Amino acid sequence: MTGASTDAAEAVRCLADARRALVTSHMSPDGDALGSELALAELAAAFGTDTVIVNRDPAPAGIAEMPGAEVVCVAPTTPEDFPKGFDLVVTLECPGLDRPGFDGLDALPILNIDHHAANDRYGELNYLDESAPAVGEMVLRMYRAAGVEPSAQAATAMYVALSTDTGDFRYSNATPRAFLAAAELVEAGARPEQVAEWVHQRRSAASVRLLGEALRTLQITEDGRVASLSVDADAFARAQATPADTDGLINVPRAITGVIVAAFFKQWEPGVVRISLRSRGAVDVRAIAAAYGGGGHSNAAGCTVPGELAAVRQEVLARLRTLLESGS
Ligand code: 5GP
Ligand code: MN
Repeated sequence: MTGASTDAAEAVRCLADARRALVTSHMSPDGDALGSELALAELAAAFGTDTVIVNRDPAPAGIAEMPGAEVVCVAPTTPEDFPKGFDLVVTLECPGLDRPGFDGLDALPILNIDHHAANDRYGELNYLDESAPAVGEMVLRMYRAAGVEPSAQAATAMYVALSTDTGDFRYSNATPRAFLAAAELVEAGARPEQVAEWVHQRRSAASVRLLGEALRTLQITEDGRVASLSVDADAFARAQATPADTDGLINVPRAITGVIVAAFFKQWEPGVVRISLRSRGAVDVRAIAAAYGGGGHSNAAGCTVPGELAAVRQEVLARLRTLLESGS
């Protein structure tokens, strides 16, 4: 299963040839994950290919308001009739086959669609494009390749993917390609003000309480270049929050003047620490995440590390300081 990178037209053929596809994305799905899934399912339907979208975790509540999101199954395992009742698996935004959080996906041919720089190429077909601003934009290329006009609903889903992965067109992946796709999607019926409302104006009260908990743990290194936050199980309990309520909190330390690297440490259950990393410029935090078995992009990465919060935080911060010293 080592297919070379394929193009949008080949990915379309693979999808069109399937009878029933299981469509999935990574654990803790974000806007690109969910938006790409919904748009891909609509494209599949245009060819008469049935799809079942299954994610291990729910998407953030605001994003889950986008029309069509109600068809997504959130379950700890693949459906009972998998693999028997299916003939294809489509993974979106998953650099490794461990990312969906389901066992046994490789029982069927996999169409692997991703824009991460490091992808394991675990698919029968690997439609990979590092310079794509979002996987949603790669799905739009599939529509173009197929000559299928996206409905307003599919355009909205792809716009959610594109706008969330580019941080509202503020990150370095907000390329001409991203803006061209955005124009096309708005023309097809996506409404930026509506999407911004789902993405930014649907915070749970628990996430705001959790922000308060996290801010009390703010640490900034003496040189002002590394800022970090953490939340432990007690903080989650006090805020009546769940891991989904941590979405976006990393942007708070990241926004501090002079901060080059921001880190957010989350301990929800004993012995496991989930880490989000963000950086500016040439500082590659994916390297740190990858050292712990995680991954992501150069400026946005994550990993899960066994251990207890305080010790893990100290160790990772030491590595981040070393990374900064070596790079500047
Ligand atoms: P976040 O901090 O928002 O969870 O993740 C930031 C970026 O890193 C996203 O592109 C996400 O897909 C990636 N990422 C987060 N955690 C992991 C992980 O455990 N493994 C890999 N391969 N990528 C991750
Ligand atoms: Mn993405």
